[in-house]
Amino acid sequence: MPPINLYSDTQTRPTAGMRAAIARAEVGDEQRRRDPTTTALQERVAELLGHEAAVFLPSGTMCNEVALRIHVRPGGDEIICDSSSHPVVAEAGGPAQLAGAMVRTIDGDGGVFTGEQVEHAIRTRVDRYAPRSRVVSVEQTTNMGGGHVWPLQTIHDVLAVARRSELRAHLDGARLMNAVVASGVAASEYARGFDTAWLDFTKGLGAPVGAVLVGSQALIDEAWRWKQMLGGALRQSGIVAAACLYALDHHVDRLAEDHEHARRLAEGLSVIPGVRIDPSQVETNIVIFEVADAPAFVARLADQLELGALDAHRVRAVTHLDVSAADIDRALSVISDRA
Ligand SMILES: *Cc1c(COP(=O)(O)O)cnc(C)c1O
Repeated sequence: MPPINLYSDTQTRPTAGMRAAIARAEVGDEQRRRDPTTTALQERVAELLGHEAAVFLPSGTMCNEVALRIHVRPGGDEIICDSSSHPVVAEAGGPAQLAGAMVRTIDGDGGVFTGEQVEHAIRTRVDRYAPRSRVVSVEQTTNMGGGHVWPLQTIHDVLAVARRSELRAHLDGARLMNAVVASGVAASEYARGFDTAWLDFTKGLGAPVGAVLVGSQALIDEAWRWKQMLGGALRQSGIVAAACLYALDHHVDRLAEDHEHARRLAEGLSVIPGVRIDPSQVETNIVIFEVADAPAFVARLADQLELGALDAHRVRAVTHLDVSAADIDRALSVISDRA
């Protein structure tokens, strides 16, 4: 049997239904805005997130980098975000190179920070010494923070502080639909009040390629310049946009199963000696637990189970559409045999 892949929800492969949708896709030249499937996807995501305009990009990383770039003015503006957030830990230093920005990190609670923390992080001096605070970025759900859902009220608090200080606001919605399914709050409610927001289709939604960034028409026009410059303007991208549309139709409600599997995994892990986890902390599809030696633990299980070691002690497991309840039970028995 191949190992059960809990390494990430990026590990999904297109289903037969998704492949059929890909095969049927109508296509054109996306750079000339003549790919009907990509256009349909953009319109659908703009509406879903309640924003005026949208642009299809090859990856979530490009959504973050392009959005942060268009929010800052070159030369020392500051981005406020959590210390565990994706642009800080996993975008190869992109904000420094592409946006030319300082990053001021906040140590939130599992990636979730408060309006008060933002207030403290904002530079109040308006002289030539201090960097200029420019944008605050929120990650819904938190990834390295452990799949937490930002409560709507906390988002509103952060946005209120941002507005008072004339900061822009950006929503990294790589797993926004997981938050929507877990909380019952609409995607447009979560995205309201942000200048830019985006959805990733290659995480729990199970598509092979693609993310969509939304904002005002003016900001999306500006994003298009960066898409072009970075080589993110595409040709017959309807081939992959069709998979994203398919995912919106078929793979959103089922995220609840991933959440159920993550809880089942967390509860099973909590009774295994040598494993530390509080199952009540698991809200969506990400399970982070502690062991004595995470890299050794991951290596010891690798022939049966793919997991990620985050650091010396923390292991991350992520559920997704290629993982069944039976897989979770098998994963638990492998771990309890070898932990
Ligand atoms: C995966 C991820 C990204 C980057 O998306 P890619 O499509 O992998 O480039 C950004 N932010 C968060 C929170 C993510 O989990």
